[in-house]
Amino acid sequence: MEIQSPDRQIRLAVDLVNTRTFEPEQLNTPADLRAFLLDHGEPEPVDVDGADLAAVRMVREWLRPVFHGDPSQAARVLNAVLERHAVRPYLSDHDGTPWHLHVARPGASWGEWLAATTALGLASFAAGHGFAALAVCAAADCERVFANAAENRPRKFCTPRCSSRTRVASYRARRN
Ligand SMILES: [Zn+2]
Repeated sequence: MEIQSPDRQIRLAVDLVNTRTFEPEQLNTPADLRAFLLDHGEPEPVDVDGADLAAVRMVREWLRPVFHGDPSQAARVLNAVLERHAVRPYLSDHDGTPWHLHVARPGASWGEWLAATTALGLASFAAGHGFAALAVCAAADCERVFANAAENRPRKFCTPRCSSRTRVASYRARRN
């Protein structure tokens, strides 16, 4: 399990939650999970089975309220996941990688590793930028979450596409 830069942890967390929104489920089979992990830079071998898939889908639902909830509820969720799945952080430069921080126990299952890693990423991000920087898209027909590190540019939408679609819809509503 690969290098854990903070950017990578937050991307993992956001993309994991976005594998199930109003759009169809993207993690249907162990092969889907394997593709997700490879897409996010996990090196081979990436072996996953049905139990890993079930565990990861559960982690996804633990993380979802962090983007929806109020800050103290989000903090409680992250603290609970860290308490259950994270170990005392330790530095590693295994396999010739740059020094990086691990927070999952060595030999953790994919579910445990994702829980610990994404919770650490979200916790660090919220501590740096505030929970307001973790949000759900404001478009009526979108449920995607996003992380917005640009402090002075508050964002309401996951993408410019959702932003312009919503603007057009409200223009039409006003005109009618
Ligand atoms: Zn959106």
